[in-house]
Amino acid sequence: FLDIHDLGARYGSLRVLDGIDLSVEQGEVVSLIGPSGSGKSTLLKVITGLMKPDRGRVTLAGAAVDYSNRKSLKAARDRLAIVFQQYNLFGNMTVLRNVTVAPTTIKKRNRRQVEEKARELLDRVGLGDKLHVYPDQLSGGQQQRVAIARALCLEPEILLLDEVTSALDPERVSEVLDTIRLLAKDNIAMLIVSHEMSFVRDVSHRIAFMADGRVQEIGSPEQIFDNPQTDRTRDFVGRIS
Ligand code: ATP
Ligand code: MG
Repeated sequence: FLDIHDLGARYGSLRVLDGIDLSVEQGEVVSLIGPSGSGKSTLLKVITGLMKPDRGRVTLAGAAVDYSNRKSLKAARDRLAIVFQQYNLFGNMTVLRNVTVAPTTIKKRNRRQVEEKARELLDRVGLGDKLHVYPDQLSGGQQQRVAIARALCLEPEILLLDEVTSALDPERVSEVLDTIRLLAKDNIAMLIVSHEMSFVRDVSHRIAFMADGRVQEIGSPEQIFDNPQTDRTRDFVGRIS
């Protein structure tokens, strides 16, 4: 569904992505792990068009994405949604409005239908009783769950998650991870960047280990954690587990 081939990107003279090959099938959950600075966030930025690649190819739902072409980029963005570590909710809007604003204004979908969908999503992430409160009245974990509901209300075919729990207190982490676990059962494709190794192991169909701007190894959770095929992977999982 998402196919990445020989993708490269850099910040000025700093090469950050150096030939990424990666794919995510429909309904598949793939996680990216790897040391700090290995380019995980940059890869998500390039996929979503927030940063331009300088070589390689991204194919989404069978169509090559041309990052210099507005139409092509918009078509790609219509299929994906991203949630960052910083949830960036709109402080002047209620929870419900935060979730419905993009689908109704940018995508011009029917407001009543979007609202119905938003209520259902907020219910699913355990916030059905918070529709009319403002973000500053919510805990960090609750805000992050609103951000996930907001992304899902765009009805993406693939959801990209970048360290969605790292800004949270430890006791809030599990509620967000449980929410993502539930979604994973829903057959939505996900590309997850996370340092929560037990979660990654539990939720992923495949895990990619990234270092030096490349995917060094990709395989089942069992392969990556119990039987890594490269010294780099072995060294990394040995240090973190
Ligand atoms: P972490 O696990 O710490 O989030 P990461 O794998 O997500 O790390 P990236 O954020 O993709 O790493 O960064 C990859 C490299 O690019 C790092 O060396 C970083 O210093 C550099 N970098 C990231 N953002 C910028 C920027 N805006 N300008 C210049 N260099 C950047
Ligand atoms: Mg990062």
